[in-house]
Amino acid sequence: MSVLVYTESENGNFKKIAFETASYAKEVANMLGTTVTAIAINVENPSELSKYGVDKVLTVNNDKLTNFNAKAYADAIRQAATKESAKVVVINSSANDKYLAPVLAVDLNAGYASNVVALPVSTEPFKVKRTAFTNKAFNITAINADVKLIGLAKNSFGLKESDGAATAEAFEPSLKDEDFNISVKSVDKATGKVTIADAEIVVSGGRGLKGPENWGMIEDLAAVLGAATACSKPVSDMGWRPHEEHVGQTGKPVASNLYIAVGISGAIQHLAGINASKVKVVINNDPEAPFFKAADYGIVGDAFEVVPKLVEKLKEF
Ligand code: FAD
Repeated sequence: MSVLVYTESENGNFKKIAFETASYAKEVANMLGTTVTAIAINVENPSELSKYGVDKVLTVNNDKLTNFNAKAYADAIRQAATKESAKVVVINSSANDKYLAPVLAVDLNAGYASNVVALPVSTEPFKVKRTAFTNKAFNITAINADVKLIGLAKNSFGLKESDGAATAEAFEPSLKDEDFNISVKSVDKATGKVTIADAEIVVSGGRGLKGPENWGMIEDLAAVLGAATACSKPVSDMGWRPHEEHVGQTGKPVASNLYIAVGISGAIQHLAGINASKVKVVINNDPEAPFFKAADYGIVGDAFEVVPKLVEKLKEF
């Protein structure tokens, strides 16, 4: 028996979340007294997983799997889990993995827990801690099925490096034609910028910026930090920014390490989507703005003065 981890990648490279899920899987394997096997699909350098405690990597190289396909990926992961007699399968909680998870859970006849934020509370019975109500609460969920499928929440565990060398083994899952009834043929990214989902840092602007012509300083701040840009709902509703930047309850969720909110009041619907971010910094000229209560750091001041100064200062580093 081993723990199996699916390590997400893009264009042949592991995503950072792949290393976090691998680190997590290693600790779970330690708790169970077993080893970790990873499945890596169309990845150029699978040995990168050695650093994160993986004992063996099943490397799948198949052109049909170039673009993400939930049914085909689930089929491949299920076959890897069967081969390794895995009773615990770890994936993450990205958009792709949330799409993958129910298909995989059915294939494995597994109990699935999403948004898991910590190591299992116990292994007999198997209980995990998850976020609920957009990170306002936690719950402990028991997975009673024989096979447990865990969806790890992004940035909840961190990277744990260790010594070791993972062995690589070519793995050729047999894929069915039905897996490809619907398949993505190509992916063209609209921009080369950092996406909100992948970003470590997000710089977000609200109605306090007065108009789209003032977004240059938000983009400057994002550029100097290597961050993604985001906005509040009214800003995208008014067409100041594209809809894909809208974050919050009705927009994209943000789970970055740093979220900088500029000229955003901190309405509950906005906070609902960004609560999972680790450190929140607020820049607002109204000391009574509700966002300050939810923030780790706050600057009371005019964004038009504070942001350019911040950019200047950060450029010195
Ligand atoms: P405002 O509330 O107008 O706040 C602007 C802020 O900028 C103020 O705090 C002000 O003090 C500050 N400011 C002004 N000038 C400056 C300056 N020069 N320098 C610094 N600060 C300045 N909202 C979302 O964002 N995401 C959602 O997903 C979402 N979903 C919703 C769903 C529902 C069902 C509903 C009813 C609402 C939803 N909303 C959502 C809207 C939400 O309630 C708020 O109206 C919205 O978040 C406010 O946006 P804002 O903070 O940009 O604007």
